[in-house]
Amino acid sequence: MAGIYIHIPFCKSKCAYCNFFSLVSEKKIVEYVDALKKELVARKQYLGNEKVKTIYFGGGTPSLLPVKYIDEILGIVNDNFDLISNPEITLEANPDTINKEQLFDLKSLGINRISVGIQSFHDDDLKYLDRKHDSKHALQIIDDLKCVGFEKLTLDLIYGIPTLTEEKWNKNLDIFFSTGISHLSAYALTVEPKTILGQRIEKGDLQDVSEEETVRHYNILVERTKENGFEHYEISNFAKPGCRSQHNSIYWNDENYLGLGPSAHSYDGNSRQWNVSNLTKYIQLVNADIDADTDADMGRYYEKEILSKEDKFNEYVMTSLRTSWGCNVEKIERDYGKSYSDYFQKNVKKYLESGEMLKNFNTYHLTDKGMLFADGIAAELFL
Ligand code: SF4
Repeated sequence: MAGIYIHIPFCKSKCAYCNFFSLVSEKKIVEYVDALKKELVARKQYLGNEKVKTIYFGGGTPSLLPVKYIDEILGIVNDNFDLISNPEITLEANPDTINKEQLFDLKSLGINRISVGIQSFHDDDLKYLDRKHDSKHALQIIDDLKCVGFEKLTLDLIYGIPTLTEEKWNKNLDIFFSTGISHLSAYALTVEPKTILGQRIEKGDLQDVSEEETVRHYNILVERTKENGFEHYEISNFAKPGCRSQHNSIYWNDENYLGLGPSAHSYDGNSRQWNVSNLTKYIQLVNADIDADTDADMGRYYEKEILSKEDKFNEYVMTSLRTSWGCNVEKIERDYGKSYSDYFQKNVKKYLESGEMLKNFNTYHLTDKGMLFADGIAAELFL
C-alpha cells in the first residue's frame, strides 16, 4: 500500500532555522491549489493499482490553507485514487495559525491526525528559533485539539537549542507526557549555513549549538520516553504501542509514495523524482504540461532518477538503520545478492564491537548510542 504527500508551501513568517521550501507570501494560494489539483489528476497512475493508506498535508504550514481548499484537494484524491476505507489523513499545524473552529471543520473532512509544531513550551527558546507562537498558544492548541477530539495527535519538539537548559528540556517533556498524547517527534536543532539562524550565529549575534548539550538532551529524551512507555521506533520518533505514524513509516519501510507540490519527492520502487522547488515555476510548468496533454512533456516540472541496485541497497541500509526494526541481512541477500550481504556483515563488525550496533538473529539495529551517529554509520556501510 502507498501514501500521498501534499506540500503546502506557505508560512506566516520564516523561522530562523528553517531549511524547507516555503514562502511567506500567500498571494498565490488560489493559483497554487489549481495547479496542485491538476498535478493530482495528471499523476493518478503514478501508484499503479496500489491502494492508498495515508494522505499527509505537510509544509510549509498546511493550517494556513483555508479549509475549503483542503476539502477540494481531498475530493480530487478521492475521485482519482483507490483509498482504503479509513486512511490515516494527517495535517501539520502551527499553534498560531489554527483555531478550534478550523479544527472542527478539518475533522469533519476526515482529517484524523494532527501534527503540531510546538518546538518548545518556553518563550525564550521560541524566540531563539524565531517561531511566531508563544507558550500560551502552544498550551491553548493542545486544549483545543483535545476538545475537538482527534483520533491521533503528535507534537514536534526541538532539543539542543542553546537557550534550552536540561531543566527546561525536562519541563518540556513533563508537559508533553502530561497531555497524554501518544506520539512525539523530537529533533536535534541543526544549523544549516544558509538559514537565518546560520547567518546570525556566524555573525556572532546568537550563541551556537553545543554538541555535548545536544547529546545530553538526547539521552534524557531516550530515557524519559522509555520510562513513559514510548517506543523509540525511529531516530526522532517515539510512539505508544499502536500509535506510530503510518505515513512516515512508508518512507522507512521502502513503500511507494506520491509527492505533490513544489519540492515534493515521489518514489515508485524503481525511481525517485522531485518537483521543482520554486512556486512560480511549479505553477507555470504544471499548467504548461497539462495543456500540452502529452506524457512526453510531463518531465518539465520534476526531475527523475532511476535507482541502480547499489542506490537501492544504500537507501535500504540508510532508512532501515534509522528504525527500531533494523536492517535484515536475509532481505539484503534476497533482494541484492550474497555479495551485498557479505559486504554489509563484514563492515558492521566494528559497530558491534563499539556498542553502536546490536545483532538480533539476522537483523542489525543501532543502539541508543549508535542512533546519534546513524547518518555517519549508514554512509560508512554504503556501496
Ligand atoms: S513553520 Fe515550518 S516550514 Fe514554515 S518557516 Fe517555520 S519551520 Fe519552516
